[in-house]
Amino acid sequence: MSAAKIRRIRLGRAPNCSSLGNVVNVLIWSQAAMAALWVAAESWPTRRRRDEPGGGETRATDDPPALVSTATENGAPHEAHVQVTRACAMPCPTCHIDPEVGGEHVPAAVLAERFRGLAAAGVFHVALGGGEALAHPDLAEIAASARAAGLSVGLTTSGVGNLSAIVGFDQVNVSIDALGEGYARVRGYAGEAAALAAIRALLGAGVPVGVNIVLDREGFAALGETVDAVVALGVRDVHLLRLKPTGRAGGVYLDRRLTPAQGMAVWPALLELLGRHPEVSFRVDCAMTPFLAAHGVDPARMREVGWTGCHGGDALLAVNTAGELAPCSFVAGPPDPGWRGGVRAEPCASCAWSATCRGGCHAVASFLRGSLLAPDPECALVIAHDRDSIQNSIK
Ligand code: SF4
Ligand code: SF4
Repeated sequence: MSAAKIRRIRLGRAPNCSSLGNVVNVLIWSQAAMAALWVAAESWPTRRRRDEPGGGETRATDDPPALVSTATENGAPHEAHVQVTRACAMPCPTCHIDPEVGGEHVPAAVLAERFRGLAAAGVFHVALGGGEALAHPDLAEIAASARAAGLSVGLTTSGVGNLSAIVGFDQVNVSIDALGEGYARVRGYAGEAAALAAIRALLGAGVPVGVNIVLDREGFAALGETVDAVVALGVRDVHLLRLKPTGRAGGVYLDRRLTPAQGMAVWPALLELLGRHPEVSFRVDCAMTPFLAAHGVDPARMREVGWTGCHGGDALLAVNTAGELAPCSFVAGPPDPGWRGGVRAEPCASCAWSATCRGGCHAVASFLRGSLLAPDPECALVIAHDRDSIQNSIK
C-alpha cells in the first residue's frame, strides 16, 4: 500500500446492501483496538487495487476480507448487486421485487460479459440475487465467471433449491426473518426448516455463511430468538436489513415497517445482541443508519470504519436482469442520480451524520414523501424536526 494515510477500513464481504462493511462491533471497539486494526491493515495482502480520482487508492484484501482506502472519494462503485434471475416460487409479501414462478434467467454467458465490464470499471465485489438465485440452472458457472473476472462474489438465498450448485462463493447469506409460525406470517410460507437446513448444509460444506434478517415489526419483536437459533447452528455473521417499500413489499409496507418505537429500539437491541454473542459480527444495511444516528453513535468512528449509509450511485450499483443499471436494488436508474451530496433539506442539511447517512433511505423517502431527496421520514431526528416545525407554525 502507498505510504498515504489509511482513511477507511471496511471489514467483511457479504451479499447485500453494505456487503463490504457496516460491522456494528467495530463501532464500540476501544481506541487501542482500532489503532491495532489500522496498523495491521498496512500489511494485509492486496488482491486487487485501483487509484481513485481525488488521490489515494482503494484495495481489496482476502485475508481478512476487507476494503482498505486512502482515498476521500470513490471513482467507481465498490460493489454491484447483480440480479441473475426473475424466477422464484415463494410468495413472500415483503419481497423487494415482484418475481414470477417461471421468471427469466439471465444466460450465464451474458452474466460473464457483465462481470467483465464491472471489473473493468473498477468494481471489487458482486452480490448475486434474484428472484431466487438457486433457481438459476448455471449458478456454479456464474460464480466461476465472476471470480475469473477478478471479482469476489456473494449470494443471497432463501435456502429453497439446489444447494449443491453453491460452489465458489466468498459468502452465502440465507434469509430467515423469524422462526416457526412467525416465519410463515412474515414470509407467507412455512420456510423455516428449509432455511435452517440450508444453513447447516452450507456450514457443513465449509461455505462462509451469513444470515439476513429483514426487520418488519413482527420479525423485530422476535429478533433475539432468531439470532440465538442461527448462532447455535454456528453462524457468525448476522445482517439486519430494513424493510424497503419496493416490489411486492410496497403493498404491505405501511403495516409491516418498524414502528417509530422499534426504530429507536434497533441500537439497544444490537448492543444487547453484541453482549450476548460477542463472537458474532453484526452488520446493518445502508438504510439503517438513521436508527443509529438517533442514538448519537459517533459519526467520526462511522467514517473511519467505512460505514455506509445511503451509498447508492456511489459505492453501490445495481444491475437487473435486462442489464439496466440503477443506484441500488430498490430504486430504478439512472445509476448516478447525484446522491453524493446527500439531502439538502433540513434537518439532514445540518445533521452531524449527513456525510455518512446522506439523508437516510431514498427509496423510503420516495415512497412516503414522493421525492427521492426528501429527508427519510422514519428517522427519529426527522420526525422530531417535523413535529417542531408544525408546533412552530401554529404558535
Ligand atoms: S436508497 Fe440508499 S439507503 Fe435505500 S436501499 Fe438504496 S442505497 Fe440503501
Ligand atoms: S436527519 Fe437526515 S442525515 Fe441525519 S440521521 Fe436523519 S436522515 Fe440521516
